[in-house]
Formats: sequence, structure tokens, C-alpha cells
Amino acid sequence: MKNFAYLRPETVEGAIGLIARNANAKFLGGGTNLVDLMRENIEQPDAVIDVTHLTRGGIDELPDGGLLIHASVRNSAVANHPLVRERYPVLSQAILFGASGQIRNMATTGGNLMQRTRCLYFYDGTARCNKRTPGSGCDAIGGFNRMHAILGASDSCIATHPSDMCVALAALDARVHIQGARGERTIPFADFHRLPGNTPHEETNLRSDELITAIQLSPLAFGKNSRYRKVRDRASYAFALLSVAAALEIDAGTITAVRLALGGVAHKPWRAYQAENTMLGAKANRETFERAAEAELSAARGYGDNNFKIELAKRTIVSVMSELADAGGVR
Ligand SMILES: Cc1cc2nc3c(=O)[nH]c(=O)nc-3n(C[C@H](O)[C@H](O)[C@H](O)COP(=O)(O)OP(=O)(O)OC[C@H]3O[C@@H](n4cnc5c(N)ncnc54)[C@H](O)[C@@H]3O)c2cc1C
Ligand code: SF4
Repeated sequence: MKNFAYLRPETVEGAIGLIARNANAKFLGGGTNLVDLMRENIEQPDAVIDVTHLTRGGIDELPDGGLLIHASVRNSAVANHPLVRERYPVLSQAILFGASGQIRNMATTGGNLMQRTRCLYFYDGTARCNKRTPGSGCDAIGGFNRMHAILGASDSCIATHPSDMCVALAALDARVHIQGARGERTIPFADFHRLPGNTPHEETNLRSDELITAIQLSPLAFGKNSRYRKVRDRASYAFALLSVAAALEIDAGTITAVRLALGGVAHKPWRAYQAENTMLGAKANRETFERAAEAELSAARGYGDNNFKIELAKRTIVSVMSELADAGGVR
């Protein structure tokens, strides 16, 4: 690992000033991804700027009933917060399905959004990887690609985003609060991460001089009837082959509100808008859920080892939606 400076500014403005002056610096959250990337020489910052103490460490209840989760809140604290468990069980479940207790105790909310793909070729310095070295090629296409994308991929990159938490945040329509040298702004969660196109090294729409300060959750009455299902090779401590985050509201047998997002299928957490549109206003039954899954996966493409994910995604959507329907919605 290359030598680097450890910096601990007093304020958010101080952190932003440091990163604006040093393009080769990185923010440091819990370090659970960044330090691994530095050990592998994939990231080689001159300086790391510790931000874990800068954004107040809590979760605020907003006047409208939503929540503001500050960026330095650890993943365990989010998952175990009573209001998260009560109002957004899908978020609590998604976090608890990720990593291990020790890692969740270290990992921060901001860092979770910014974690990088687990594509094996990205971590292998001898492999061709457009994300690590733009223009070099992609050894996952035609290689071992069991974990890779089936939606929204490109000829440049078929990697997936590895986060569980972010799949729930996509379903919940979270907003990302950001502060940078040019001021503050918020980004809808769906617009935060990017599809690879021909620039897979550009993973988010966060500018290099911007810091994530918080995640905002809007009130969602039917959020109580939500859940997260993760399909993986081992029962714990494994990244998702595929995951589903969903929430459902039913009135007199008809779907009146629905949220659905998929993980492990694309370069970003995949909000399943086509499936949602198919379900809205339809009867809450298996036939509707199958039509919705077909609609969402109609554009899916496998790359060999991961072909099975297309059918797996359809079945998992139907299974999770059926469970939520059996739970009855909330009306
Ligand atoms: C063995 C192992 C297994 C894992 N399994 C899972 C799993 O099953 N599911 C899952 O979802 N995750 C899993 N993870 C990933 C883990 O969730 C992430 O490593 C973690 O969420 C990253 O958070 P962090 O605070 O440690 O980020 P760091 O490693 O500190 O930082 C990651 C990136 O975020 C940037 N960053 C940090 N904070 C901010 C901020 N406030 N604003 C802007 N940029 C910021 C850093 O500069 C860096 O680029 C696993 C990790 C390991 C090591
Ligand atoms: S899929 Fe993306 S991250 Fe993996 S080798 Fe190809 S370009 Fe690199």
C-alpha cells in the first residue's frame, strides 16, 4: 500500500476544502471498503480525510414523519433504530442481510452508498477492466460472470452494485443530501448511481468535491408492509446474487401503491418501474405479479454464467410480492 496522509478536519467545510485542494484525496468512512481497495492498490490516495465525526451521528425524526439519517451513522445503528424498524422494515432487513456484525458496526451510511463493485476482475490487477483502467477492456464479458448484471449493462462493463442497503433506499425513494464547494443540494436516490455506458469508472453523480451529509426518507404509510429478500450462495457473509426490496398497499384486493427494487442485477440499485406500473390498479394476485416480473425482465440479458438470474429474478419478485399480499397490505 502506498504511503498516505491521514487528515481529520474539524468541520464539513474543512473536509470539503481539503478535497477541493487535493484531487487525489478520498473521504474515509468506516474504511471497510476503501482500506481493502488501498491494500489491493486499486485506490491509491495521497490522503484520506476522516469524515466519521463530521455529520452529527444520529437519526432525526422529521416533522412530516420521515427520517433524516446522517451520513456517519453506522449501518448497525440504522438497522436497529426503533423508527426504522417500525416504519421501514425493508431498510432494517436489507442492512442486516449485508456483511457481518463487525463490518456493519464500522460501515457508515455515506460509505455504503459509495462502496465499489465486487467484480472479481476489478480486484485482479492482471485482468482487463474498464472501470479500473478506462479503455483497457472487460474480462468479465466472456469470463466468469455468475455475479454480473442482467439489466442496464453495456459493452464496457457488466458489473453490479453490491449494496443491500441501497436497494431498500431505492425502493423507498430516498433523497441524498450533499454538501460541496458549490453549496448544498439533494439528489433523488434513483439519480445518485449511474449505469455504466462507456464510462463505468464514473459510478455516481456525486462530484469529486462533494460530501454526502445525510439520507432523507419520506413518510410512507405502507412502508410497514415491506420486506427484503436476498438470494445468495451462502446463508451469511455473501454478496447478493439477486435481491428484492418491496412494499405493497392493497385496498379491497386491488393494489393501490407499490414499490419494487432489485439488487445484484445492475450497475446501480434497480428500481423496477415497469413492474410497479403493471401492478398499480391491478388485482393483488399471482397472475399480476407474474405479469409484472415479465414486464420488468423483458429487457434482461444474460452473459453466460449469469443467465439463470433472469428466471431467478422473476421467481423472487413473484414470491416476495405474494408474501406481502398475504400479509394484507395496510389498509
Ligand atoms: C467481507 C465484506 C463483506 C461484505 N458484505 C456485504 C454485503 O453482503 N452487503 C453489502 O451491502 N455490503 C457488504 N459489504 C460492504 C460494506 O457494506 C461496505 O464496505 C460499507 O458499507 C462501506 O462503508 P464504509 O463507511 O466502511 O465506507 P469506506 O470504506 O470508508 O468508504 C467507501 C467509499 O465511500 C467514500 N465515502 C465515505 N463516506 C463518504 C461520504 N460521507 N461522502 C462521500 N463519500 C464517502 C469513501 O471515500 C470511499 O470511496 C461487505 C464488506 C466486506 C469487507
Ligand atoms: S464488469 Fe466492469 S468492473 Fe468487471 S471487469 Fe468488466 S469493466 Fe471491470
